[in-house]
Amino acid sequence: MRYANQAVDRMSADEIREMQQRLLLRQIRYCYDNSDFYRQRFAEVGVEPGDIRSLDDFYRMPILMDKEQERLSQARSLREEGHAFGAHLCSSPEDIAITATTSGTTGLPTFSYTLGSDDLTRLHAPAALMVGQAGIGRGDRVLFAHALGVYATSTLLPPLRAAGVLPIDVDVRGGAESILRFAAMTRPAAAMMTPSLALHLIDRIPEVLGHAPRDLGLRALFVVGEVGAGIPEVKHRIEEAYGCRLYDWIGPFAQALGVSCDSDEYHGMHVVTPDTDLYPMDLIDPETREHVPVVDGAIGEAVYTSLQRKTLPILRYASGDVVRVNTAPCGACGFTGPRVTVVGRSDDMLIVKGVNVYPAAIKRVVSAFDLELTGELRVVLDRPPPLVEPPLTLRLEVNAEAWERRGTEGLSGLERRVQRALHEELRITPRIEWVQQGGLPRALAKTALFEKRYTD
Ligand SMILES: [Zn+2]
Repeated sequence: MRYANQAVDRMSADEIREMQQRLLLRQIRYCYDNSDFYRQRFAEVGVEPGDIRSLDDFYRMPILMDKEQERLSQARSLREEGHAFGAHLCSSPEDIAITATTSGTTGLPTFSYTLGSDDLTRLHAPAALMVGQAGIGRGDRVLFAHALGVYATSTLLPPLRAAGVLPIDVDVRGGAESILRFAAMTRPAAAMMTPSLALHLIDRIPEVLGHAPRDLGLRALFVVGEVGAGIPEVKHRIEEAYGCRLYDWIGPFAQALGVSCDSDEYHGMHVVTPDTDLYPMDLIDPETREHVPVVDGAIGEAVYTSLQRKTLPILRYASGDVVRVNTAPCGACGFTGPRVTVVGRSDDMLIVKGVNVYPAAIKRVVSAFDLELTGELRVVLDRPPPLVEPPLTLRLEVNAEAWERRGTEGLSGLERRVQRALHEELRITPRIEWVQQGGLPRALAKTALFEKRYTD
């Protein structure tokens, strides 16, 4: 794996940092000069753009944005300027080339993926690199099975087309059968979807198409939006079923791109865009919001900063995405840049007896029991998070075979093993409710891990 920009690819680590610093200082000035929102935010935190002379000065300054600030900015622009892109829009609304929103699973969607034509062009190289490493390029069709509409992943469509790839963008809301009929008709070289949809289709392909998943003939599967490919059992299961490599990718604000490399073992998502975002080198403690120095294995909440974006740039945006950053060269491909593994969402974090627990981490531990469990789970909440009255309750889905055996042997042995693993890895001893295979509903877009048993 290499960096998306060839000029950056020839730079040393020091030269990359110097480039980032130069771009950052220019970008701060640009945002300050072109947006009332940024002038106001700098004043509110008591910093002048001239106070920031280095990356370290910037990492030490207070957070300028988060989801809440972004929503306030949107409400303000809707009120004062008649559009919902946000008061941090630094160009005229007429210059917007594409817009897409977050899914809105945590509230009102935000137009975080709003790009001018230069911003959009800057996505071409990373997108071409991502599919290119799997041998996908000009003339290939790609089944694009994300939620059709104004959602974040739609910003990947123009760069894919620019790479000569023909996306077959099917609406996942049409259901598994419709997705698979399109796959059978268009014979795609690769497919893009969430990992939970890739898992779900393993069972549906024989029913709908009458053949095995590997007979789709896919050469690669690209997944996004959930922890999945980072779990060894999930990666192995999907690769085995489809007979192709699974690539895990992340594209926050459509300005940074991380993608896993072509390797049996998972080495995290390689961030190939140091010239467009400081991600993932700006980390904070999710609670104190103090900067966390990035050493190999550092964990913190990722802070996003646009280095070149002109239309709707973000500066020091606390994302809520908690990641682990590895800085040692990748053991498989030798990539020397940072690699990220998703740990969870800071707003998903639970506190059980003073211990911080992420549902994504629970899912990772539970997935190791793939002989007996499907990996589908819910974390039951009896009161608003993050505080949980122990014991934490988990609903775990048992596969058909283990369910058959429950009558004779019971599930107490399995319960003890799962509890022991969760205690060893995460210091929690949950209460477990068993659910029969298929008992927990699957969402085709993003599957919620919480089951609320309280009213807001
Ligand atoms: Zn690698």
